[in-house]
Amino acid sequence: MTDFAATRSDPITGAQALAEGALAARVQVVSGYPGSPATAVLDQLARHDLRHINWAANEKVAAEIVAGASLGGSRSALVLKSVGLNIALDPLATLSMTGCRAGMIILLGDDPGATGSQNEQDSRWLARTAELPVVEPTSVADSAALVAQAFAWSESAETPIIVRFTTSLARATGHPNAPWKLPPSARRFLHKEYRWVSYPPVAQRRHKALHRRLRAIADMFEASPYDRATGSGPLGVVAVGHTATQVSALLDNLPVALKGEPPALLSLASSWPLPAKSLAQWLACRERLLVLEEGGPFVEEQLAALCHGQRIDIEILGRHNDTIPSQGALSAAAISQGLNALDSRYGTLSPQAAQPLPIDLCPGCLYRPLFASLTQAMNAIGRRRFITVGETGCVVRGLTHDETFLDVKLSLGSALGLGLGLAASDSKQRIVALVGDSSLLHSDLNALPQLAATQPNMLVIVLQNGSAALTGGQPYPTGGKHPTDLIAALYGAMGLSAQIVDARAADEMDAAIRSGLNDHGLRVLIIEAPCAPHIPEVTQ
Ligand code: SF4
Repeated sequence: MTDFAATRSDPITGAQALAEGALAARVQVVSGYPGSPATAVLDQLARHDLRHINWAANEKVAAEIVAGASLGGSRSALVLKSVGLNIALDPLATLSMTGCRAGMIILLGDDPGATGSQNEQDSRWLARTAELPVVEPTSVADSAALVAQAFAWSESAETPIIVRFTTSLARATGHPNAPWKLPPSARRFLHKEYRWVSYPPVAQRRHKALHRRLRAIADMFEASPYDRATGSGPLGVVAVGHTATQVSALLDNLPVALKGEPPALLSLASSWPLPAKSLAQWLACRERLLVLEEGGPFVEEQLAALCHGQRIDIEILGRHNDTIPSQGALSAAAISQGLNALDSRYGTLSPQAAQPLPIDLCPGCLYRPLFASLTQAMNAIGRRRFITVGETGCVVRGLTHDETFLDVKLSLGSALGLGLGLAASDSKQRIVALVGDSSLLHSDLNALPQLAATQPNMLVIVLQNGSAALTGGQPYPTGGKHPTDLIAALYGAMGLSAQIVDARAADEMDAAIRSGLNDHGLRVLIIEAPCAPHIPEVTQ
């Protein structure tokens, strides 16, 4: 047993355990982008003295930093949430072909139930599109050890591996088993003609090599100690990732009359590629099967295909036939509903209402007077004369006060692009684009050249609170440059001048907003509204 487990008596969260695993694997370079449930993992790693750790401007940049570090010989980890993988997929879908050098893992936090996300996305489908292997810890106990193991598998197969976890695991607490402490990586950058150059003449060859490496990884998964089978009999449950802990807890509380005959349970950490040989053996002994996974039916469809291909005659219950709800986090009630469908003697638990509550603006937040001023001015002129476009960030908290405040909102960094499209579509209404400061650096930035070139009928309001406030106040990746100066310079570089207003000067802000709404053509306001919880001088 390592010092890791020997010195700790208090339980830790799943997010902390994942970080412990990366440390045991001697990770040296970490980058990511904040977002629930992934933020806590990088925050935990940031307490340690790594060669490089940062929040990048966006997930694509973070993925490139981590990929470059691995090619250079450093074990590296990318930390992001579900929708962040959408942004990082471009470099990752090619990196999977070239492969990595030192061990590289992607700690990917999915959020079934959308407690802190704009959508419910099972990112494993994207992982499969990029042909990146996926493992999922089945418990806090296994989390640290599986992360360290994933580094070892990755380095051995020269393939980045996704460690997918969900909100339920990140927030669960427990005592992690001691992870394997890896020796330092001996990898260095490999100078070899074309080895790391992806372009058409080598793409097919690389793809073939990737498929060879995936077969090697599937063989490693066949021997994985993190896929565990218990029990026997014709009824089976495959519980993927943290659902294994949840279903075990339910089975432990079965009525005494049923204690002797629980279904056979396979706790599966290897989600893709599946360990098909050992799974087929286990499935051949079952007649009815319940598949439980957060998201899906990702593993469920693979199991159906496996059974079909191996001529295993088995009835599969899961998401595809609505045995369990096809959306939302997998609640105890949903698991119990599935068990009851497997065998009615298992009974059902009553569902508990668990709708995520909207998050209010913090007390004293300067966005309150700002949003009130904007709403008041739009109503005075005629609300229907404007279309407001927002994006992910504390702007959505304004909806708790006025749900008519935003007309359009999709994802992080999308306000300017959407605004450009709306302006191109309807010239009668003035577009009001509410752009976050960190969202601007994340990806709104890419819309700036077109904004300057087309000069749409748009009032752009940059909400400058000084940090990525919604996710906990992570700093800009710009080394402390004053955010207002930086944002004004970015617009200035496109030939756009911005008016700077302080949200604490109420009259001045009201006048600027009114004037911006009444104007025609492109106007840019930067409203400084430093965030009280994260920028200390506001509270002093
Ligand atoms: S975190 Fe900051 S910006 Fe966000 S609501 Fe709270 S005070 Fe306002």
